[in-house]
Amino acid sequence: MIDLCSDKNTCCGCGACKSICPKLAISMKNDEYGYKYPNIDSKLCIECHLCEKICAFKNTSISNKKPLRSYLAINIDTKDLLNSASGGAFAAIAKFVLNNNGVIVGCAWNNELKPEHILIDNYENLYKLQGSKYVQSDTEKIFKETKQLLINKKKVFFTGTPCQVAELKQYLGKDYNHLLTADIICHGVPNIEIFSSYIKWFEDKRKCKVLNVNFRDKCKLGWSSIGSITYQKNNKIKKQIILYNENPYYYLFEYGFILRDSCYNCKYACSDRKGDITLGDFWGVEKYYPELDKSKGVSALLVNTNKGQEIIEKLKDYIIIIPTKYKYIEENNDRLKYPLKQPKDRKIWVKCWKTGGFDQVARKFYKEKRNIILISKIKRNIPKGLKNSIKKIISFLF
Ligand SMILES: Cc1cc2nc3c(=O)[nH]c(=O)nc-3n(C[C@H](O)[C@H](O)[C@H](O)COP(=O)(O)OP(=O)(O)OC[C@H]3O[C@@H](n4cnc5c(N)ncnc54)[C@H](O)[C@@H]3O)c2cc1C
Repeated sequence: MIDLCSDKNTCCGCGACKSICPKLAISMKNDEYGYKYPNIDSKLCIECHLCEKICAFKNTSISNKKPLRSYLAINIDTKDLLNSASGGAFAAIAKFVLNNNGVIVGCAWNNELKPEHILIDNYENLYKLQGSKYVQSDTEKIFKETKQLLINKKKVFFTGTPCQVAELKQYLGKDYNHLLTADIICHGVPNIEIFSSYIKWFEDKRKCKVLNVNFRDKCKLGWSSIGSITYQKNNKIKKQIILYNENPYYYLFEYGFILRDSCYNCKYACSDRKGDITLGDFWGVEKYYPELDKSKGVSALLVNTNKGQEIIEKLKDYIIIIPTKYKYIEENNDRLKYPLKQPKDRKIWVKCWKTGGFDQVARKFYKEKRNIILISKIKRNIPKGLKNSIKKIISFLF
């Protein structure tokens, strides 16, 4: 009997097992908390074990290898930079690949505001893949589609979480010269059921229709933990700015209360990266480069293979790129060292969602996190000049 996921810690829910099954015996089903796992129809299964062999999460080995080179990067195009979660390194590489007749694979919102991996082949659609969606992306179809493109000799730039990139490689089973991959440094993903219930809760509360969610909106306060929701109400389009510590979904994501089980046991949260390139936020960059303008975001860009390095050398028309030390990036980004530890209250939050939906989650959040919300509100209302003076006094005193 094949066992793909009785241990939830070892299934990332990518759906590659479903894609490879020659008998279409596997479907992806939600568990009681909304996280997707493969389900095998024993009447169709011929026990070929391909599904087990294809699973990168169980089969890939990890070493203590470190990236070949490290850079900080800032996209030269202001529009592309503003649409990006960090410094827009992804958009710069994607633009270069598109200008060379390639195809980009990455995560986009679909019409129902659910993230899924799609293919694009022109710059007009690049915005769809830009920006972080803090929800698990649906990759059930993309491995097959990417393989077909590669067989047809198309240049492909595939991007996603490290487990998705590792899975693509396992699925392909061989290296293709015309495939370039980038994994993002990843904190972990919540599931679509919880996210959709949050959107429904937001809509019910405001009697509106949500049009777009941006987890990193730089327009008002620049690059930080601030997002926004764009919605339609009474024929008017409005935008609500969201501070992570004041919003139940953003807060639960940021502090890891609603991530998938496998994310707390992620073997890829280390320095041995699976993409040719790794992209992340260069948090703490001001400590090492105080003169740099970091206001619109700075990418951490790690090069893991020679193929990755060849591309980086061709990007000078797209991006400002400065060599840096891996140590600088790693010391401010724990997900290059170990996965997020499961918070002790995580089960309580997901059970709360299961029993009372997002309504109950929100009530619990506003009741229990009153102080955090209050501090965030006070901080946001302190004028910038006064904030800087307070910071100076604190650093003088301690
Ligand atoms: C769930 C999640 C957790 C993250 N955690 C961290 C972290 O702990 N530390 C850190 O430094 N960076 C983290 N990032 C990465 C960071 O937010 C940026 O995505 C990354 O720095 C690339 O930014 P960019 O400016 O180059 O391009 P952007 O345009 O911001 O990034 C777009 C890229 O992100 C991919 N992407 C977006 N959402 C998803 C998704 N749901 N699933 C798979 N791929 C997705 C797209 O395919 C595309 O490749 C996380 C991103 C996500 C989606």
